[in-house]
Amino acid sequence: MSAAAEGRPPAAAAAGEMVREATAWCALHGLVVGDRADPRSGTVPGVGLVHAPFSLLPTHLPESHWRQACELAPIFNELVDRVSLDGDFLQDSLSKTKQVDDFTSRLLEIHRKMMEINKEENIRLGLHRSDYMLDSETNSLLQIELNTISASFPGLGSLVSELHRTLIDQYGHLFCLDSKRVPGNEASSQFAKALARAWDEFNVDSAVIMMIVQPEERNMYDQYWLAKHLKESHGITTIRKTLSEVEAEGHVLPDGTLVIDGKTVSVVYFRAGYTPNDYPSEAEWAARLLLEQSSAVKCPSISYHLVGTKKIQQELARPNVLERFLENKEEITKIRKCFAGLWSLDDEEIVKSAIQKPELFVLKPQREGGGNNIYGIDVRETLIRLQKEGGDALAAYILMQRIFPKASLSNLVRGGVCHEALTISELGIYGAYLRNNDKVVMNEQSGYLMRTKVSSSDEGGVAAGFAVLDSLYLT
Ligand code: ADP
Ligand code: MG
Ligand code: MG
Repeated sequence: MSAAAEGRPPAAAAAGEMVREATAWCALHGLVVGDRADPRSGTVPGVGLVHAPFSLLPTHLPESHWRQACELAPIFNELVDRVSLDGDFLQDSLSKTKQVDDFTSRLLEIHRKMMEINKEENIRLGLHRSDYMLDSETNSLLQIELNTISASFPGLGSLVSELHRTLIDQYGHLFCLDSKRVPGNEASSQFAKALARAWDEFNVDSAVIMMIVQPEERNMYDQYWLAKHLKESHGITTIRKTLSEVEAEGHVLPDGTLVIDGKTVSVVYFRAGYTPNDYPSEAEWAARLLLEQSSAVKCPSISYHLVGTKKIQQELARPNVLERFLENKEEITKIRKCFAGLWSLDDEEIVKSAIQKPELFVLKPQREGGGNNIYGIDVRETLIRLQKEGGDALAAYILMQRIFPKASLSNLVRGGVCHEALTISELGIYGAYLRNNDKVVMNEQSGYLMRTKVSSSDEGGVAAGFAVLDSLYLT
């Protein structure tokens, strides 16, 4: 029986069929993650796969905001590089955080050691993702954060755009959509290209690229996509090692060459090492130090990593700080325009306001990977508790203006089941930057990632289970 004869609107009838088409497409095209239900899915490739959670259709975004976000990517790339060169700025800005946050303190310790030996990083590779939300009240694109380490989903994000184009070509007439309005997304091949160019600059034909991974990683296919492009398009081999394997098997020759399994490593690409959980023992810290001491290209170097902390994001938003790092006034204006309100907790007035109106703020510790921020009434309780604790306890956090994007209805698909929900979205723009001494080899916007979550959820991460992968539809 046709949908019309059953009395259902054609779009609703098509939705069920679309979901099956879409999930089959995911399986056929590698838009997959390890399934939590299978205990081996995080360690054994090809076992226990499930389609990545996705939204059935792309999320609308005005073209002007899209252009604005794309234009910012090379400016942020350059900003990260410039800030990374100012070791004292990083150490000073994080000096109070260090007193109360062990993880940041350990990173700073490695950074300080490198400053002491005047460690030179001639080849500098950044693979970043700057995340934004569209604030509904002001209709402005505001930055949530800038990720300089382990920016995830360049692999799977590219595929979601392709999935959406395919679905729109097949079903778009039902929704009056045109697949050409979904921007192409080459994040996967562009990140691989940047890694390959860094390998070229390192200039040792037999060298490999080493991806630092967690011992268990259900998002491994996102990572394997980059390794596939590196092999197939650039003829470069990628090896995967955990920090503890690096500690056990790696060493640095007197000339700085990093060697593991008898192979020279040209580029170390971190997809682990961004959270305290990645350092369960001293062995992992020893590995991080060893990598930093080597002459391999680090993506990121310890200084690039520190530039991406939330404390530095807040410091850069203070008056006249951007001017220290960038000369071009137009670029400074563009960057400043996307900064939301950001405050250090030294500011007693703002702490008072946040205790009075906690719903207007987000309280953020120096953590990555989702699930760490504090919202709503918990902001008030935490601030009052930290104030009582006294000392520098507040310095572990920053305060940020809460951004309220406009909610819209979306169909979210997880585990083969589609749910309609009121959702909000976060746009991530990837950026790739490569410099060898004075020569800027690459400074590009490199694709995008849209993530969509139910509007009632505070947190964002896909891997953390809050959001689904999405793409965008230009309006
Ligand atoms: P992480 O490094 O853990 O990803 P984020 O700063 O990106 O930290 O915060 C995690 C999530 O919290 C974001 O993806 C977003 O959904 C939400 N979030 C963060 N900052 C804000 C904000 N200022 N307003 C509204 N939501 C926010
Ligand atoms: Mg982050
Ligand atoms: Mg984030």
